[in-house]
Amino acid sequence: MMKIGKYSFGTGDRFAHEGVNQLKALIEAEKLFGVHFVPVWNKSNREHDIIGTEPISTRKEADAAVKALGYKDQYFVDADHINMHNVDRFIDCCDFFTIDVADYIGHTGTMEERFLPAIKEAGKIYRHIAGKKGADNFVTEVSMDEVDEAQTPEELRYILKEIAKEKIPVQTIAPKFTGRFNKGVDYRGDLERFEKEFEQDLLVIDEAIKEYGLPENLKLSIHSGSDKFSIYPIMGRLIRKYDKGIHIKTAGTTWLEENIGLALAAPEGLALAKKIYVNSLGRMEELTVPYATVIDVDVKALPSPEEVEKWDAETYAKVMRHNQAEPLYNPSFRQLIHVSYKIAAELKDEFLPALEKYTNVIGDQITANICERHIKRLFTE
Ligand SMILES: [Zn+2]
Repeated sequence: MMKIGKYSFGTGDRFAHEGVNQLKALIEAEKLFGVHFVPVWNKSNREHDIIGTEPISTRKEADAAVKALGYKDQYFVDADHINMHNVDRFIDCCDFFTIDVADYIGHTGTMEERFLPAIKEAGKIYRHIAGKKGADNFVTEVSMDEVDEAQTPEELRYILKEIAKEKIPVQTIAPKFTGRFNKGVDYRGDLERFEKEFEQDLLVIDEAIKEYGLPENLKLSIHSGSDKFSIYPIMGRLIRKYDKGIHIKTAGTTWLEENIGLALAAPEGLALAKKIYVNSLGRMEELTVPYATVIDVDVKALPSPEEVEKWDAETYAKVMRHNQAEPLYNPSFRQLIHVSYKIAAELKDEFLPALEKYTNVIGDQITANICERHIKRLFTE
């Protein structure tokens, strides 16, 4: 089995341009906080479809970043949220597979009735990948997070038991936790309840390793991990208490920082960032539907195009940047931009050269965001 290190960080980005900046952030975090995170470049099938890219672009990004920085440690490319219908295009270029079986989870009945069909499907997909790639050549994650109802620790125990029976060597598992994990903004829910559930999940994982013979490095995977600042200290404290690893997936947060960097870099960058917002306002429905379970945009809180037109770069950055102490910070604006990468893809002849041209300013935003706002909160608070 290809084994992933204790702490790992999913650092995907929509346009496969920030590999170097993301890897720099993890290297910097190791220097500052003494914690090594294995980089995992994740880009979901949904993102590839919306942008019109192929999974090989993520592999190229990761390899190029590793080469550019002379990085010598382990890294992965994650086929994120795949299923039987789309896994084949990821087989050659990925070595981490997130098998998404949320659609096979039933809404009523016993645990067996609700979860067994999903786990059987995960087994089928796992064996399909193993058959093509060789069982020793990839890391397996099973994800069930994109559903409305959270899974209890008791349900997680059942799920892991059945996963073991299917002989899936799962190393990371992504349950749906209590509360809202909206994209690009903070956690919304009962923190005490989250803490209790997370702690119980860690204990369940320990038991599953001992009793069901699952891989000893099995750990929780936190999807939509971007910007969940209020739960980071809780998770950090608990994984240290129980000496457990963690996998955190972020991707959206990097795309949001690209926008901030563009706006700050030059007037033409600011104009482009504004254009992405204004275009997205007219296409809210289309952009938000694929993300219905993971965003809450308050339409009334969105500024009008006329208002945005008057903003300078600093104002744009203050509205967008996830700083809850800043009065101008607008989480609805941020969430709408989160799903607007399709607009940037349509404007790619403008957008991609701008990413290149302003990579230094953008890179500073990305590195500070991953390092100072995300990882720091896990290990120093
Ligand atoms: Zn996910």
